[in-house]
Amino acid sequence: MKKKCAICDGLDKEFNLCEIHLKAYENLNVGYEDWVKALNNELSMNEYLNKILNLQDTGNAIREVATYLLENNTSLTQNE
Ligand SMILES: [Zn+2]
Repeated sequence: MKKKCAICDGLDKEFNLCEIHLKAYENLNVGYEDWVKALNNELSMNEYLNKILNLQDTGNAIREVATYLLENNTSLTQNE
């Protein structure tokens, strides 16, 4: 049985996310690393996600992923 994206009706590609939301998730990960570097590591994931949600130019898919991560208290850190 094919699993579905945790956010929309798209098919789960990886981490319970469809292709669109997986891409947004990856963009969030990259963005977080940049922010942490810029702020000398003084930024928690939740603070970062809240900042992203407050930015006007944040895209819909990224907004949805950030909201999902906050609501589920999910870390962006991937378990290898
Ligand atoms: Zn999706």
